[in-house]
Amino acid sequence: MTHVTEAELLQHVPNELFINGKWVPAADGATLTVHDPATGKVIKTIADAGVADGAAALDAAVAAQAGWAATPPRVRGEILRRAFDLLQERKQEFALLMTIEMGKPLAEAYGEVAYGGEFLRWFSEEAVRVTGRYGTNPEGTGRMIVSQHPVGPCFLITPWNFPLAMATRKIAPALAAGCTVVIKPAELTPLTTLFFVRLLEEVGLPAGVVNVITTSTSAAVSGPIIADPRLRKLSFTGSTPVGQKLIQQSAQGVLRTSMELGGNAPFVVFEDADLDKAVAGAIAAKFRNVGQACTAANRFIVHESIADEFARRVTEKVADFTVGRGTEDGVTIGPLINQAAIDKADTLVQDALGRGATLLTGGSAIAGHGTFYQPTVLSGVAPGSDILREEIFGPVLAISTFGDEDEAVRLANDTEYGLVGYVFTQDLARGHRMIERLHTGMMGLNVGVLSNAAAPFGGVKQSGLGREGGLEGIHEYLSTKYTLLPDP
Ligand code: NAD
Repeated sequence: MTHVTEAELLQHVPNELFINGKWVPAADGATLTVHDPATGKVIKTIADAGVADGAAALDAAVAAQAGWAATPPRVRGEILRRAFDLLQERKQEFALLMTIEMGKPLAEAYGEVAYGGEFLRWFSEEAVRVTGRYGTNPEGTGRMIVSQHPVGPCFLITPWNFPLAMATRKIAPALAAGCTVVIKPAELTPLTTLFFVRLLEEVGLPAGVVNVITTSTSAAVSGPIIADPRLRKLSFTGSTPVGQKLIQQSAQGVLRTSMELGGNAPFVVFEDADLDKAVAGAIAAKFRNVGQACTAANRFIVHESIADEFARRVTEKVADFTVGRGTEDGVTIGPLINQAAIDKADTLVQDALGRGATLLTGGSAIAGHGTFYQPTVLSGVAPGSDILREEIFGPVLAISTFGDEDEAVRLANDTEYGLVGYVFTQDLARGHRMIERLHTGMMGLNVGVLSNAAAPFGGVKQSGLGREGGLEGIHEYLSTKYTLLPDP
């Protein structure tokens, strides 16, 4: 493994747009700056794409589409596999880059390299498994063929919280299916995508298959791309309000969309749970990525008979956290992404306290450089508190209680979101009932982290449409065609 310094690494990261196989500045020369949330300092200045650059990127994706769709699936898969292999060689660089631009502790950044990389390996294998059907129709008068075809040029929009995995989770299935793409990473963390696309270039991806635009004017640049009839698919990961706007824009062209949106995960602990496992699961489900995950446990719904003990034990663990810049040894909690994230977490905590919650630890921002918030535990959170309704996206663990299973189900489902639910119980029958009764796209039964490239990731209700990963993931980028042949 190579060991680069931060300065060397940042020099190696491209600072331009990648359009039709070339690194180019924004047409009007505009730039934007990227900051380290742990220090507030500018770490890199990169191209700031405008509408003309978005149009050029889509032109390139459209021009490359037919050639890429005609490229043998095995060849497409081998490019993804080489990307997987090269990512393993560069894991130190990718992990460090994510820690610098996004803030997550280095150990977690390595975890994201592993998770994000798996999409490359998984879809390198799936590329050759796209199949169809052939059969006699029920009347016996003809033969039915069902075939799968690449959807066409795709626009991929990703958030800042998992800079590598959110990119690979979309790029890998799109390329495996034979689609070309324009990707627009979040302006807060664009460097990882630029660095990853440089890697794709190195493993021999043909020009125009993947194009990257980084921009500070996402809405203005995205609008014309989404409105262009040559675009065939929009895949978005981000907040529900932005997803709703993009669905509205997509309606005009009846554009196919995948939407991976917000969450408000319930974490239900029954009185028969193994408390050691529940506490370990709670810490992972809440504090991974400093709470900035769509899958983060948002509402801890704990049986009233064990709520005090659960609260005492999680508070003990939280007291052991070390807050700091994610590059420093032993740090377990990094900064939040920006001041707005601090303000949001703090407003939710103050609202809960105002409605009678008890503060067990933390509860305020940490003064100084960078945007840090104390890891916080609240108990006795009252119904109606904003923290039960909104995504916290910060290191705040909020506990409320329930009396019986029906009440637990009612509280857990009392949200417009439906991404993931966590349930801790040792009663197998109860666990089975909860799988059926929770309105979510995913469920962790006695586990606090469940994402896996081999599994379909996605939600119901306002958490989104479609699935990423698993056998399902590639179908987001394929369209099904039915052909009837006359009886021979
Ligand atoms: P966001 O919605 O603010 O931004 C997401 C992306 O959309 C960014 O690239 C941003 O630049 C872009 N964007 C914003 N407004 C736009 C517009 N009008 N037109 C086009 N693009 C626009 O979300 P965020 O703050 O970056 O990410 C956090 C959110 O993402 C949380 O709600 C989280 O739950 C969600 N998320 C969901 C998943 C999932 O798989 N379900 C995964 C990670 C994050």
